Amino acid sequence: MGRVDGKTAIVTGGALGIGKASALRLAEEGAQVAVTDVKRDAGKSVVEEIEDTDGSAQFWPLDVSDEDEVEHVFDEVARAFGGIDVLVNNAGISGTDKPTHELTEEEWDEVMAVNEKGVFFCTKHAIPYMQEAGGGSIINLSSIYGIVSAPDIPPYHASKGAVRLMTKTDALEYAEDNIRVNSVHPGFIWTPLVEDYLGDQGDVDEGRKQLDELHPLGHVGEPDDIANGILYLASDESKFVTGSELVIDGGYTAR
Ligand code: NAP
Repeated sequence: MGRVDGKTAIVTGGALGIGKASALRLAEEGAQVAVTDVKRDAGKSVVEEIEDTDGSAQFWPLDVSDEDEVEHVFDEVARAFGGIDVLVNNAGISGTDKPTHELTEEEWDEVMAVNEKGVFFCTKHAIPYMQEAGGGSIINLSSIYGIVSAPDIPPYHASKGAVRLMTKTDALEYAEDNIRVNSVHPGFIWTPLVEDYLGDQGDVDEGRKQLDELHPLGHVGEPDDIANGILYLASDESKFVTGSELVIDGGYTAR
């Protein structure tokens, strides 16, 4: 018996990194998974990987910053899978790394469109299916950068702080519908997002060493460290958990 047997789950940004690891774990534990992403080839490969291990998944191309696309894809997923029980709002970008006084409005809006409005659009269009099903679980990827600050990527911090509170508002709003909403706050996790960010800064190996040292456990995390937390929040093991912040950060924010 899988931990999420019989549930249907949508994972946004499911082609790479944390989203991919989450799609694989959810499928491994019995969920039917809609892998969605702007990256088509990588997204389809995740579905093939799931099918190779007898799991059930389908890919949909989806840009979470486009509300019409979100509405259309969620409708298709619900028809194909018979409903939506779990939504993992994972798609995110780090955006331009400049101090606030040098940022343009476009650079600010680019990050908000994906990290903040994307969560809004996906939540908005998943809720009616969850209400119809009598409940559901929404898992929003915030960050340690939504709890504490650092002198870098200002729009990213703003967006992840917003996601932290959007989570609590929706948790209260939809508790009576038995829809749970929680945020996950990863420390630095070794994914293409972090590798590309370090590449933009200069030396990736040196950058990784510096990131390792920021975590009391002595190293950055792996996508599965986060996927296991997401799996818990998706499953009924967390049936009394809503509006909470699951921090998985190797001790980063414990200082
Ligand atoms: P990742 O490796 O970059 O993977 C994210 C995926 O989302 C990529 O395939 C990306 O495509 C896709 N994506 C970007 N914009 C999208 C859009 N508008 N619509 C749909 N998909 C889109 O990222 P990750 O490191 O796994 O991060 C996943 C989530 O965890 C993000 O919300 C991130 O902020 C959060 N997080 C990550 C870390 C970390 O250290 N990795 C720490 C804290 C929080 P492209 O590659 O084409 O952009």
